[in-house]
Amino acid sequence: MKLVGIAASFGKAAAEAMVLSAPPEIDADRKDPRGEKERLMTAVQDGIKNLSLELDESKKKIEGNSAKLEMLEMHRTILNDYVFRKGIDGYIEQGYCASSSVMRAAEDQAATLENLGDSFLSERAQDIREVGRRLAYSMEGFSEPDLSHLEKNVILVAESLSPALLSVADCGRIKGILTRRGSRTSHVAILASGLGIPTVVGCAGIEKIRDGELVFLDAEKGTASFSLSEQEKERAKEIIALYEQQKADLKKYQACEAFTADRKRIRVLCNIMDTSMAEKSLKYSADGIGLFRTEFLYMDKPRLPSEAEQVAVYRSLAVNWKGKPVTIRTIDIGGDKPVESLHLEAEKNAFLGYRAIRICLDRPEIFLIQLRAILRASAFGNVQIMFPMISNISELQQAKSILEEAKKQLRAENQPFNEKIPIGMMVEIPSTAILSDKFAALVDFFSIGSNDLTQYVLAADRTNQKVASIYNHLDPGVLRLIELTIRNSREAGIPCSLCGEMAGDPLALSLLIGFGLEKFSVNPGRIPLIRNLLSLIDFKRAQTVADQALKQSSSKGVADLVNGTLSKEYRNWLQDGDDLIG
Ligand code: PEP
Ligand code: MG
Repeated sequence: MKLVGIAASFGKAAAEAMVLSAPPEIDADRKDPRGEKERLMTAVQDGIKNLSLELDESKKKIEGNSAKLEMLEMHRTILNDYVFRKGIDGYIEQGYCASSSVMRAAEDQAATLENLGDSFLSERAQDIREVGRRLAYSMEGFSEPDLSHLEKNVILVAESLSPALLSVADCGRIKGILTRRGSRTSHVAILASGLGIPTVVGCAGIEKIRDGELVFLDAEKGTASFSLSEQEKERAKEIIALYEQQKADLKKYQACEAFTADRKRIRVLCNIMDTSMAEKSLKYSADGIGLFRTEFLYMDKPRLPSEAEQVAVYRSLAVNWKGKPVTIRTIDIGGDKPVESLHLEAEKNAFLGYRAIRICLDRPEIFLIQLRAILRASAFGNVQIMFPMISNISELQQAKSILEEAKKQLRAENQPFNEKIPIGMMVEIPSTAILSDKFAALVDFFSIGSNDLTQYVLAADRTNQKVASIYNHLDPGVLRLIELTIRNSREAGIPCSLCGEMAGDPLALSLLIGFGLEKFSVNPGRIPLIRNLLSLIDFKRAQTVADQALKQSSSKGVADLVNGTLSKEYRNWLQDGDDLIG
């Protein structure tokens, strides 16, 4: 049987399913109506006892693994920490439920550590959040599966997966992830992509998969096959062996510059959502950070991050990237990226509603904090600022004037920053692509957001599986707007990159090269493959193919055209045969 979902982190895997049950939802704002403090404090004590026992059990299983043992010791220390416990009691005193109090106290402590701007202490902040979450779960009677030491290779199958659970997991053993909920831009999808774990999300029907049975996951196409015949299992193993071989062949592209076959220099930058993804990209010698999705600093937290917390993160990137561009996009909240602490109303058409720059212009007090933080970090490296979801000139002008206000404040406080910080915008709404000649006169750079551009051009929600066959960035309507934007940026003399998933799609690469794109921003794990594929593309030939693509009338026509021009070596990287399975 084959299920179809959304490919969220590329790759392929075949391994036994490990089916996880869904954890409870914990609301950090929940108050306890009965206010029985004694009872709540006892519940916390019991939770601490249970979690201590769980940690002891885990320790027994991983004797000899000193790094993991150290981590468990650390978790036990946090659990017994006086300040943490006092924090919990304080929130119970204020009337919060036991589990909400635990989450709030953990977040307070984590935020304090992050504020200190020390990378070691920032890592401890994640440990505190992890302990808080596990303790809260344990108090709700849910014991989380221990993924920190797995005995065999698995594909995790779950309703949804918390990024925190994944961040402490034995990732060497997790060969794939399959979830029913989630979108390509959901937290866990982006984290999995950073870790290079093939992932399919938004996949209905996963409840039919039995724990322990073999699953073949094709996260290039977004499919998961199970209940396989013996013959299909053999075929799956062959495909995975070939895939592993290809991955090994990519090693030589892990730290080099990217060129086309006819030696046109192309910049390959990275998309990140946190500092760990930035570190991975640095190892791959990325040409810079093309997109930092800062909204992830705001998500899953009981309160918004402070200016100091944000400065610490942005500054560390500015310093570590040593002069390479660090493009910090202001928050793109809303759509499929909720921020609980903003208490936004649910909307019928979330992607067409109160989102990203629209929220920031409406709530300048929140926007100013982020702008000040980005400006302050600009004193330490090559920081660029980028506005998402601009739909008209007035929005851009308003955003720039709030940025001016932030600069004025910092000047008055004698805070250093780069007066000439480059200002860019995402071109991801059709109106801005159509008017890109006008916008190009007002910004220092463009970055095309093909994920949103595709959904808005085709009126197909990017997270809705039912319209997934319509949502296609190879549609000639989408391509024409992308070509127009690149052409207008070139004529205005400003750089243009593309940071949507299309930049990492092997079928789209030669078209984008043909349109004249010179900057691709992709998920870290994708960098070596993209460099390899670019080295197989001839710029002059790509121009001819791209011209022809613009004259096609359907995405199928474009795909057939591109497929017909790919060399055998290039096609080897796309080769599958997976259709025979499931
Ligand atoms: C895009 O829309 O292509 C993009 C890169 O932004 P996001 O996926 O974060 O909306
Ligand atoms: Mg977008």
